[in-house]
Amino acid sequence: MSEVKPPSVAVLGAGMTGLAAAVRLAERGANPTILEAADRVGGLVATIPYQGRCFDYGPHGFAVYSAADQPLLDFFTSKLDGQVVSADKFVQIKFRGQLFDYPLKPMEAARQLGPAEAAACGASYAAEAIRRAIRPRPLLTAEDFFVSNYGRKLYRTFFEHYTAKVWGRHPSKLSARFLLKRMPRRSIFAAILASLATKRQKESSDPDEVPFHLHWHYPKTGGSGTFPTAMAADIESNGGRVLLSRRAIAVKARDDGGYEITYESPDGRRETLDAGAVVSTISITDLAHIFSGPDPAPPTDALVFRAVLIACIATKRRDIFPPQNIYFQNRLFNRVAEITRYSPENAPPDRDGLSAEMTCDVGDQLWNRPDEDILEQVISELVEEEVITRDDVEGGMLLRYPHGYPVYLLGYEKQLLPLRRYFAGQPRLYVAGRQGLYSYAQMHFCVRAGFSLADHLLSGEDKPAEPEDSETLLFV
Ligand SMILES: Cc1cc2nc3c(=O)[nH]c(=O)nc-3n(C[C@H](O)[C@H](O)[C@H](O)COP(=O)(O)OP(=O)(O)OC[C@H]3O[C@@H](n4cnc5c(N)ncnc54)[C@H](O)[C@@H]3O)c2cc1C
Repeated sequence: MSEVKPPSVAVLGAGMTGLAAAVRLAERGANPTILEAADRVGGLVATIPYQGRCFDYGPHGFAVYSAADQPLLDFFTSKLDGQVVSADKFVQIKFRGQLFDYPLKPMEAARQLGPAEAAACGASYAAEAIRRAIRPRPLLTAEDFFVSNYGRKLYRTFFEHYTAKVWGRHPSKLSARFLLKRMPRRSIFAAILASLATKRQKESSDPDEVPFHLHWHYPKTGGSGTFPTAMAADIESNGGRVLLSRRAIAVKARDDGGYEITYESPDGRRETLDAGAVVSTISITDLAHIFSGPDPAPPTDALVFRAVLIACIATKRRDIFPPQNIYFQNRLFNRVAEITRYSPENAPPDRDGLSAEMTCDVGDQLWNRPDEDILEQVISELVEEEVITRDDVEGGMLLRYPHGYPVYLLGYEKQLLPLRRYFAGQPRLYVAGRQGLYSYAQMHFCVRAGFSLADHLLSGEDKPAEPEDSETLLFV
């Protein structure tokens, strides 16, 4: 494919998607300009140093889902001079005082639940399987998904309350689509067969299907934020610009096909940037509010993001628990990660850090509580769970990210698709990334999409039409 001279490209947001697009554009001499609202690059993949520890917005491991992701891992490994450590993903759920491996291993869960409860769960799953065989129904809600894959009893026991806590909505109000993106697609029956089988699993034909066994890759030093920092250095060394503390507040489509972007500079002044093309990785709802084109943008009220709060607790002790993450059912936090399970160099020797993740809506009761108050409750609950003692704690800080997770409310597609089509109708404006596509994209997907989008821009070809459904995405 022959490359034509690309237009000047403005990239909104210096998360993994925006950086990946700009890396590719800059290395081909296209001199992109990134406008980033925060004072650091990385978006969700940023590392905030605290008392000698590296705290991420929840430790971010780079996973290779399929062979298509290997070149991306090779890219990062080369940028970090090979200084990448790896581990098998190991996650557990704390339930009724016991730890269960997650995703649930049915034979092991049955052993831990005891014969009576395990038999009741098995019977409930069998009843559900028969009901579905007699009268097949589509899986519309998250509740349908859980009941169909695990049976009603296991759904009630393990998933119902936890899902409502994480999303702030009952599973019957959430679309099944979010689980298809977040969980390995496997029924309890298939999982039992797999846990009995010794053969390696066959790779799925869908490169973004969550594999049952995952392997993390993580920078040896400096936290996951080392990945985006290396990308930003790459962009600048190839002539691109990464402008921090510049929030885009208006994007106007000009009559000549270009765009005028207004942004706030660090001293509060308003400045403008003219661009021949825009790659927007900010949330699609924010873009709809700041964009002015020939027609008004469609409504966005069914598209809401769940905010993430991370309590970062510095501890005087190491080897706090064996897995990388433990999920908790009835606590303020949803899951807790031990940062040195990602890299031992995430904390000084004999020291460690716990990263406790909570979810809420911006402006709700939890969001409005003071940081110290939230930290105090997290520490008290960790002490009650006997994860740490008060004496283990050296300090704590709270991180907040308003656009953590897109909430797939039942019927959300009715607003998402018109909005995607609206921006698809802009010949030189591209929405991309986790917030831009309103998708559960992981890092590898964002980087792949950023590269692929840049390749398209460099080709000079017309933008392809937006697909008919909300799960088929362009440029991946
Ligand atoms: C708690 C949590 C844990 C995760 N763990 C993992 C993991 O272990 N492995 C994995 O692969 N993925 C993980 N992910 C997913 C991963 O974080 C995302 O896939 C990825 O970071 C998304 O990158 P992005 O560039 O698309 O979006 P973002 O990282 O959100 O970047 C968007 C950027 O746009 C900026 N911005 C917003 N508004 C404006 C504006 N008006 N003007 C200018 N800039 C603006 C933001 O400041 C931000 O920097 C996790 C996600 C969450 C929430």
